[in-house]
Amino acid sequence: MSGEKVYDVIIAGLGPAGESAAIYTARKNLSTLIVAYDSGGQLTKTFDVENYLGIPYSTGWEMAMKFEEHVRKYSNVEIELMQEVVAIEDHGTTKKFITAEGREFQGRSAIIATGAKPKTVGVKNEEKFNGKGLTYCTTCDGPLYRNKIVTIIGGGTSGVEAALEMVKIASKVQLIVRSQLRAEPILMDRLKEVSVDIYENTIPVEILGDEYVTGLRIRDRNSSVEQELTTDGIFVEIGRAPNADGLKNLLQTNDNGEIVISTYNETNIPGVFAAGDVTDVKFKQVIIAAGEGAKAAMKVSEYLIKQGQK
Ligand SMILES: Cc1cc2nc3c(=O)[nH]c(=O)nc-3n(C[C@H](O)[C@H](O)[C@H](O)COP(=O)(O)OP(=O)(O)OC[C@H]3O[C@@H](n4cnc5c(N)ncnc54)[C@H](O)[C@@H]3O)c2cc1C
Repeated sequence: MSGEKVYDVIIAGLGPAGESAAIYTARKNLSTLIVAYDSGGQLTKTFDVENYLGIPYSTGWEMAMKFEEHVRKYSNVEIELMQEVVAIEDHGTTKKFITAEGREFQGRSAIIATGAKPKTVGVKNEEKFNGKGLTYCTTCDGPLYRNKIVTIIGGGTSGVEAALEMVKIASKVQLIVRSQLRAEPILMDRLKEVSVDIYENTIPVEILGDEYVTGLRIRDRNSSVEQELTTDGIFVEIGRAPNADGLKNLLQTNDNGEIVISTYNETNIPGVFAAGDVTDVKFKQVIIAAGEGAKAAMKVSEYLIKQGQK
């Protein structure tokens, strides 16, 4: 079904980048539509945020709710949730989002702010045990493992954060690290103060169990010796991949699948801009996504004025 209204700007994504963009387009009196799969983005999967200017501490969930509340203050911003944008079409002066749910939305300009999703490990039985003791969101599922043994895969900031959170909940925490631990120094210091079994230079080989996870076979990369760890849950925290799959036909992406943008958030298609974790901007943080969203919105305003459409 085709939506008849043509908005000044359509934004894909209701995370920090899309929300910040919408606040800026709203304040420039641009009719704005946000089309998003869900609200809040990765913030809703983050335990604590302690590095956002002016907010020394917030849970990810609380911060996400505050951001959305702010966006909803503007009457010229409409939000369509539970819509997954699977394609974008360029019709010159208009751009169209097509969703998996069969809807179409049109704008004189577009901002892609679809963020990122967890990467998979590629370990044997990964698909079989997904949701059956294997999870990609420690924040969401961690509380289900009270007094159980858990294993976290990932030695970067996300993996260490997950380990620090799970020592408060689980009876035992095991951390599988492909090479060496490489989290932020402040997290490394905290890790030294808690009891976590760390396996460095180790890869997961096979997830074990009948219906639910009961163990994980791991291999030491130096000696090739394998061993089986008993575990009730496996949490994968090895980084994110950009949500740009459906847009690759139109938009230029790099080897990581991230949308390539200019300093001012332009993509290779005039009138289509991108911001946040879905782009090739190197650092992925809330404050950066919010700033990039603001930049994209300001560039949209400039673009529409130049086009004589505002
Ligand atoms: C575990 C974890 C901890 C983190 N901790 C911190 C921290 O402490 N401090 C910090 O600054 N940053 C942290 N980050 C990073 C931060 O969360 C991200 O950089 C930030 O959320 C990126 O914002 P975004 O708007 O670009 O994307 P996202 O937050 O990923 O939002 C993307 C939005 O797009 C929607 N979407 C996705 N695909 C589609 C589609 N096809 N169609 C429609 N909508 C779609 C999603 O539903 C969502 O609404 C953490 C991330 C993780 C995963």
